[in-house]
Amino acid sequence: MRTSQVFIPTLREDPGEAEIVSHRLMLRAGLIRKVASGLYTYLPLGLRVIRKIERIIREEMENGGAQELLMPILSPAELWQESGRWGVYGKELLRCRDRHEREFCLGPTHEEIITDLFRREVRSYRQLPLNCFQIQTKFRDEIRPRFGLMRGREFIMKDAYSFDLDEEGAKRNYQKMYDAYERIFTRCGLQFRAVQADNGMIGGNMSHEFMVLADTGEETILYDEHGTFATNVELAEVQTSEQESTVPYQPQYRVQTPGTKTVEEVCNYLGVAPNQLVKTLLYQTEANNVIAVLIRGDHEANEIKIRRMLGVAELTLADPETVQTVSSAPVGFAGPVGLTNVPILADHAIRGMRNFIVGGNDQDIHLRDVNWGRDFQIETFADIRKAQAGGPSPSGDAPLLSAKGIEVGHVFLLGTKYSQAMGATYLDPQGKDRLAIMGCYGIGIGRTAAACIEQHHDHRGITWPVPIAPFHIHLISVSASDNALKTTQDLYTSLVQSDIEVLWDDRDERAGVKFNDADLIGAPLQIVIGDKGLTKGTIDVKVRKTGERSQLPPQDILPFVSKWLAEHSSLLRPQ
Ligand code: ATP
Ligand code: MG
Repeated sequence: MRTSQVFIPTLREDPGEAEIVSHRLMLRAGLIRKVASGLYTYLPLGLRVIRKIERIIREEMENGGAQELLMPILSPAELWQESGRWGVYGKELLRCRDRHEREFCLGPTHEEIITDLFRREVRSYRQLPLNCFQIQTKFRDEIRPRFGLMRGREFIMKDAYSFDLDEEGAKRNYQKMYDAYERIFTRCGLQFRAVQADNGMIGGNMSHEFMVLADTGEETILYDEHGTFATNVELAEVQTSEQESTVPYQPQYRVQTPGTKTVEEVCNYLGVAPNQLVKTLLYQTEANNVIAVLIRGDHEANEIKIRRMLGVAELTLADPETVQTVSSAPVGFAGPVGLTNVPILADHAIRGMRNFIVGGNDQDIHLRDVNWGRDFQIETFADIRKAQAGGPSPSGDAPLLSAKGIEVGHVFLLGTKYSQAMGATYLDPQGKDRLAIMGCYGIGIGRTAAACIEQHHDHRGITWPVPIAPFHIHLISVSASDNALKTTQDLYTSLVQSDIEVLWDDRDERAGVKFNDADLIGAPLQIVIGDKGLTKGTIDVKVRKTGERSQLPPQDILPFVSKWLAEHSSLLRPQ
C-alpha cells in the first residue's frame, strides 16, 4: 500500500496522556485514537496488527481442537441471574434495558450464554467433548481504565469454552489450550511465563495466567530459579511461623505526628523502622460493610486473599468520608484502638508484634507501645499479605524471585460451576444425566499487541516481530529522479506480487520525515532507494531492529527479503 492511500496520522510529540511506552507508541505511530476513557478506535495500522494476532489465534485454537462461533454482545439478565453472577458482579458489569424494560448487560465474558446454548443443544455423551471459541468485543466498566489498549473498558477478547464428559477430559482440553497459548504467544514474538493464578469472578478450581514479562506490568510474579514454581503474587501463600512475643508490655502513649500519612513519613518522623508499625486499612465491601485490616508496616495487603477470606466479590479501600465517620480522623490516622463496630482482621505477622505503633484515630496523632489483646481485640488472624521475593519457594528451598508481568491470557478449569447452576447436562451411555465439566480460556488481543510493543521498541519507535507487524517492509524513495521513481515502482510491484506486505512512502516529504515515520511505525525491514545508491547499482535494505544494512543490486532485493522474512517468521512457528 501507499502511504498516500492509508490513513496513518503519526505524531511527532509524545502525547501527554500516555504513561507507558506501548500506549505512547500506539498513539504516535497512528495505531489507535482515544474516543473516551477506556474506549479506542483502531486506525488502519492498528487494525492490521489486531487482525494478525487474531489470525494466529484462530490457527492455533483450531489446532487445539476448538471451533469458532460468535455470540451476541448483549446478554439477557435472566441468564446471569441463573448463574448467580447478576447479583455479585458489581460495577464492572454494564447493565442496560431495552425498549420493553427488559434488563441486559454488555458481556464482560460469556460463560452464561455458552452454557445456555449447551443445555439446549447438547443431549448425549456422543456430542462431547466440545470446545468453542469466539473473537469478540467485551465490555467491562473498569474502575481505572488506563495504558491505552492494555486496560480498556471495551476491548477485543478471544474467549473459548470447553465441555467434557469428566474431569480427565476437561484436564486434557485445559492442557490443549495451555499448549495452544504457548504457541500463540511464541508466534507473537513474546517472552512470557505461565503462572498459577486466582480464579476471581470466573470461578472454578485451577487456573494459569500467561504473563508477558515487562517492567511496566501491573502484575507481580513470583518464581524460583529452577522453573518448578511460578505464581501470581496474588495467590502465593506466605509460609508463617510467627509466635506470640514474650517481650514485656510497655505503657501505651500518644504522640504528635503532624502531616504524616504514609508509613514512610511516620517512620521518618518518629525515627523507627517500618516493621515496628501496624497499618490499619479500612475496606468497604459491596454491601457497604466496613472492615479494618491490620498489616505490618513493611508488608503489603493482599486484597485477593482478604476477599476470599471474607467471601466477598468486591473490596475497595473506604472512601475518605467513610474513613472519617468510622475512625473520626482523616485518611492516614486510623488505628485499631477504640475502633468500635468494625471487625478487625490481622495478618499473621501481627501475632508476633509487641509495643508497636498505630494510628490514633485523631488528626496528626499516633499511638506508641500498643499491644493487641491488651489495647484492642483481633477477631481473626489470617494470611492476608503479599508474599515477597526472598522468601522460601513452596517447591523447595530456592528463594523466590519476583518479576513484573502483563497478563495477556488466562486459562481456567471451571468444573461444574456453570453447568450445575444452569443445568447443563448430557446423557451418559447408561442414559443417566450428568453435569458437563467446563473450562474457559481468554486472551486479550489489544493487550497482546500492547505487550508486544512493551517488549519490542527502542527510542525511535516500534520494532515489530515479523508475524504481527502491520507491514513487512517500509519502502522509501529519497530521490525524485525518474530513475529512482521507476525503480521504486518496479520493486513495489514485484514485492506486492510476491505477497509481501509493503508500505510505500510515496509522500512528497523530506527524507528525514520519512525515516522518522518508518522507524516509528516499525516494519521489520526498510528499503531505501536513492540516486546515490542507484549510480553504484545498489539499493539499501535496513533491518529495523538491529540497524544492520545491506547494499544489494535491485534484482537481489526480492530474494533477499523473501528469505529474511521467511526465516524470521518460521523461527517463531511451532514445530
Ligand atoms: P485483569 O486482572 O487484568 O483485569 P482479568 O483477570 O479480569 O484481567 P480475564 O477475565 O481473565 O481478565 O480475561 C481474559 C483476558 O482478557 C485477560 O487475560 C486480558 O488479556 C484481557 N483483558 C481483561 N480485562 C481487560 C481490559 N480491561 N482491557 C484489555 N484486555 C483485558
Ligand atoms: Mg479484570
